[in-house]
Amino acid sequence: MMRMTIKRKKELFGTNGIRGIIGKDMNPILALHIGMAIGSIRPGKVAIGRDTRTSGPSLVAAATSGLLATGCDVIDCGILPIPALQFVVKDNFTAGIMITASHNPREYNGIKVIDSDGTEMGDDESIQIEELIGNSDYILASWEKIGTVIQDTRAMQRYIDAIVQSFPPSIGSGTTVVVDPGCGAAYMTTALLMKSLGCHVITINAQPDGTFPARTPEPNKDSLIPLMELVRKTHASFGIAHDGDADRAVFVDDTGEYVEENKEFALIADAICHNASDAGIIVTPVSTSRLVETIAERHNSSVVYTPVGSIYVARMMRSLRDEGKNVIFGGEGNGGLIYPNHQFCRDGGMSAAMMLFLVVTRQTSLSNLIRSLPPSSMIKKKVHTAKIQILLSSVMEKFSEERQNLIDGIRIDRDDSWALIRPSGTEPFVRIYVEANDESTAYSFWEEIQSTIIDTISDCTIE
Ligand code: MG
Repeated sequence: MMRMTIKRKKELFGTNGIRGIIGKDMNPILALHIGMAIGSIRPGKVAIGRDTRTSGPSLVAAATSGLLATGCDVIDCGILPIPALQFVVKDNFTAGIMITASHNPREYNGIKVIDSDGTEMGDDESIQIEELIGNSDYILASWEKIGTVIQDTRAMQRYIDAIVQSFPPSIGSGTTVVVDPGCGAAYMTTALLMKSLGCHVITINAQPDGTFPARTPEPNKDSLIPLMELVRKTHASFGIAHDGDADRAVFVDDTGEYVEENKEFALIADAICHNASDAGIIVTPVSTSRLVETIAERHNSSVVYTPVGSIYVARMMRSLRDEGKNVIFGGEGNGGLIYPNHQFCRDGGMSAAMMLFLVVTRQTSLSNLIRSLPPSSMIKKKVHTAKIQILLSSVMEKFSEERQNLIDGIRIDRDDSWALIRPSGTEPFVRIYVEANDESTAYSFWEEIQSTIIDTISDCTIE
């Protein structure tokens, strides 16, 4: 099944909210305007939260000021993972604001807006907010209707309890895990969660510190070397790491090896399909490894593709479920996984708990589970050029006889491989992904694409 989602131009909002460098393009004035705009379109009770960044309190105060001025009551949830904020917003609030720049370095901060259903606001609402800001067209309250603000940090515990209740009691008993929240929003949550599931928990970088002294908020092979060493040293079953706002979770296996995120997605998809009572649908962007398709086929389930961006995945999942379809899982190949029976957003805490469930119920090691996946080899390239449209047309023309999917960029599907050629939304380059079962097939497909590009555009650089 294929659907088109039309992306419209957003100026302030990127794929994941508004981001910028503090003191330059991100500042309290912008946060104040966002607060007034959200209060104007979602009057009522708004929850606000933040990650550990040093600029967080200033932006929270400014956004809160804007909300109060429009008559909203504000619940300040303090520092917490964004999925915890989303979890409480969907039950009790007209909107939510998370002050975070997710995986970006410490000089950045940003604003993610959450709608009343707990999903990140879609394109239509983001454009509406931008128009309100552009025209300063706010609905401000008179003095007797100005809102009030209270502190309430119970959201985190409610979120932990809901995840714990999704699994058999003490499922982690006898299992050791190492948690690396990277001094970010999940500095306390994931360790508490894994303890509540019965695990023995060892932590690293678990102090809240917005200067991110130990590693960048982006969890990857380079930044997680201390976690890998600690997993090996402590003979833990696996290690868990989060990005700055903990909507993503990535893993280190029992041998201390980093688990590539597409493999993580495939493994957890396998566990979910296995436990689902019926065949279902998994939703993911066109950039995700085909491993998940192979896993879905094994369980007679299917994959629906969306444009790149977790908002598109979450909203597609919701709309398919609203149509009565059995949507069982979704997410991106970067550790951002969505569990629709829990909530329609990426959820790092839930992913940590699911990985525990997988390892415990299969009664084998994570490294063995990784080895049991079908082989896959992925090449990722970037082509820098100002002539993006010419590049895209030449690729489209050259591979016109093949199966092409135009949901986001050009995806060419072959029986034994696929490739995605997708322009960046903000900068003059094109991302190219090629995947096959083996390295040489992937490489020869890449060479075909590369020669098409070089034949058409002489002034480009490839990295
Ligand atoms: Mg994030």
